[in-house]
Amino acid sequence: MRPAPTILHLDMDAFYASAEQAAKPSLRGKAVVVGGLGPRGVVATASYEARRLGVHSAMPTAQARRLAPNAAYLVPRFSLYRTVSEQVMGLLGRLSPLVEPLSLDEAFVDLEAGGMADDAASARATGEGLRAAIHAVTGLSGSVGLAGSKMLAKIASEQAKPDGLVLIEPGTERDLLAPLSVRVLPGVGPATGDHLRRAGMTTVHDLAEAGEAELVRLVGKAHGHGLHRMALGLDDRPVVAERDAKSVSVEDTFDVDLHDRVRVRAEVERLAVRCVERLRAADRSGRTVVLKVRRYDFSTLTRSETLRGPTDDPTVVREAAGRLLESVDTTGGVRLLGVGVTGLADFTQEDLFAQAADARELARRAVEEREPAGEDGGRESAPEPEPEEPSEPLAARRWPAGHDVHHEAHGHGWVQGSGVGRVTVRFEQPWSAPGRVLTFRVDDPRLLPADPLPLVREPPDYSSWPASLPKSRSGPDPAAGGLSSP
Ligand SMILES: [Mg+2]
Repeated sequence: MRPAPTILHLDMDAFYASAEQAAKPSLRGKAVVVGGLGPRGVVATASYEARRLGVHSAMPTAQARRLAPNAAYLVPRFSLYRTVSEQVMGLLGRLSPLVEPLSLDEAFVDLEAGGMADDAASARATGEGLRAAIHAVTGLSGSVGLAGSKMLAKIASEQAKPDGLVLIEPGTERDLLAPLSVRVLPGVGPATGDHLRRAGMTTVHDLAEAGEAELVRLVGKAHGHGLHRMALGLDDRPVVAERDAKSVSVEDTFDVDLHDRVRVRAEVERLAVRCVERLRAADRSGRTVVLKVRRYDFSTLTRSETLRGPTDDPTVVREAAGRLLESVDTTGGVRLLGVGVTGLADFTQEDLFAQAADARELARRAVEEREPAGEDGGRESAPEPEPEEPSEPLAARRWPAGHDVHHEAHGHGWVQGSGVGRVTVRFEQPWSAPGRVLTFRVDDPRLLPADPLPLVREPPDYSSWPASLPKSRSGPDPAAGGLSSP
């Protein structure tokens, strides 16, 4: 616990859904649900409009459809979210060398280590400056919590949502925590929460009063000790930048060169599984699988395959590594093998859950086009998708709801829905007015999948940011070249 509120926690507001609303003018102010859309799909993020109808992350999409039948249901566009995430993390990196990302849209920043703040006033000014910069560069809003510890900074950003900033003055932590639910404390999930409730403890105050011995008795030694400290507002965990790692990999050198192709394949699979274990231990997922092979003559080859989305599924990584091995000549012998996963992303457990569900779904459903993608898939000027009809052969191209397309005559748009043989497209851009809807055959040669457009057409130049912000007097100037002097 430090004496000034210089630990910042940033959390983008309803990140995936907000990005979709920013990209799609017709969805602004409307209920939007991003997630898996098939029978086993799970909600990744719901817009605030959808949350008011009771939809939340990790809820089965089928349940969300009952609660919000008129919401737009969209398949995640991770390439866009990653791009925006990189912009946001880039801004955070300008505030401090100590940035600890927790997911694509969430991170801790040690403002003191960056010389950006040494008291409440400078911390607040930096936090507001950050929020403005994020909005200008990405078009999206993020909420900021500032406190003397990570735990309280995160609680503060939660209280600040949406689109706000909350600063917790050191010294006020205990009073602030006391009336809150035990669930605000890190590590207290639904199960622990229920357990504590049955013991008569619902608020943080109850935990603090119970005392350490009682908590240890209830939830075990390791957890009980930490729980009691957190209930008192004591949290000394530093902001660590170790999640900067861009890849996770494992490799093995063999005492004797491997010649047997079957044995080589088995070793690659074993390494893939070990690699995924490390990936999972770090709470991460990755998108590109890399195979490294050093041959008898010390020549080293690497092969990589990029997946549709991040994974931490051992089967997916093992199979990708196996495919990569097929393109490598190992006659003559292999000295070393390695399997790695790069393009790392980490997501909240909820999001990982949604993605895993999504990946399974994509694997099982070769022909997603059969299902109308959104309940509103054909509203307004578009004809309703035709009723399902199982046997029509469909074009190989896929038209996931919400994904980008380009039409030769009508320009950039997004898939609003697709039914048998038809795809409904809304033609609009992030900076346009809400656009019109047209329907095409799924194999229309003038209609092609496209890359996402940036959310802000001409982002302002933030290359010298935050030199203009008030800074603490004592810290070093983080801006390259030192634009201000003490
Ligand atoms: Mg968020």
